[in-house]
Amino acid sequence: MMNLRNDIRNIAIIAHVDHGKTTLVDELLKQSGMFRENEQVAERAMDSNDIERERGITILAKNTALAYKDTRINILDTPGHADFGGEVERIMKMVDGVILVVDAYEGTMPQTRFVLKKALEQDLKPLVVVNKIDKDTARPEAVIDEVLELFIELDANDEQLEFPVAYASAINGTASLEMDQQDENMESIFEMVIDHVPAPVDNSSEPLQFQVALLDYNDYVGRIGIGRVFRGEMRVGDQVSLIKTDGTIKNFRVTKMFGYFGLNRVEIDYAKAGDLIALSGMEDINVGETVTPVDTPEALPILHIDEPTLQMT
Ligand code: GDP
Repeated sequence: MMNLRNDIRNIAIIAHVDHGKTTLVDELLKQSGMFRENEQVAERAMDSNDIERERGITILAKNTALAYKDTRINILDTPGHADFGGEVERIMKMVDGVILVVDAYEGTMPQTRFVLKKALEQDLKPLVVVNKIDKDTARPEAVIDEVLELFIELDANDEQLEFPVAYASAINGTASLEMDQQDENMESIFEMVIDHVPAPVDNSSEPLQFQVALLDYNDYVGRIGIGRVFRGEMRVGDQVSLIKTDGTIKNFRVTKMFGYFGLNRVEIDYAKAGDLIALSGMEDINVGETVTPVDTPEALPILHIDEPTLQMT
């Protein structure tokens, strides 16, 4: 029988710009109760573009970790713009589900199509959140029709076409599975994630495979590879092999690992199949590469990269 990590869900959040992704994630974060409100929101405001610009790197994806009841929900933010197609695709490979946010008045827009196409191509089953339901101009019924139409145009399969829908006002922190009412909180969205997003497979007894989807850098630890443990487990101090995209292998020791807590990155010493983590100790690490055991190296399929290489300073 297949073991599952029921304690975890990995999702990406996708939307056309301004449809409310950031507001929704901030509100889910506040309501998850794991974090103090003011602290978190202030940090997001601060940690966005300024710091990245200063460092000369573009990290468009942000990992936010929430706790809902006994489940950790990792949410990867995605850039909506077509220039970052490769990055969106790589993020889709790290997760088991997506939340598609659509403005209840604007309906589907070019970036909605672009990101939804990427999700459907990866066989993910999107959950739809019709946001800004509080607006006088909201027209949720028509917007849902548009969303369905878009799924059909993009060749969604039967399972994908049965997407669950929540109606929300991210700004008010309310949501519901019903179109004509709002609950006082966003429980329905948390429940939708738990019910509809598959839990990762727990194959942690098999040999390690960790794949790097994104890069980061900081002055203390140097280069950081962010990605998913697809198989096995990893500990700080482990001697591991990095399989480069050209097939060459370099050995290194894992010196630091990070998990996510709210919007913060926190040091951890152990991770296993299903976890989204960041890893340092290898200055040569690059997107798409696989970390595996030294004695049984086995690479994951190479990831697609089509944007300019990240500039590390
Ligand atoms: P993002 O670009 O998808 O991250 O969108 P933001 O979360 O930054 O939201 C874009 C704008 O829409 C901001 O001015 C928000 O305050 C506003 N907004 C977000 N959610 C709602 C909502 O539920 N109702 C209303 N009326 N405005 C919202």
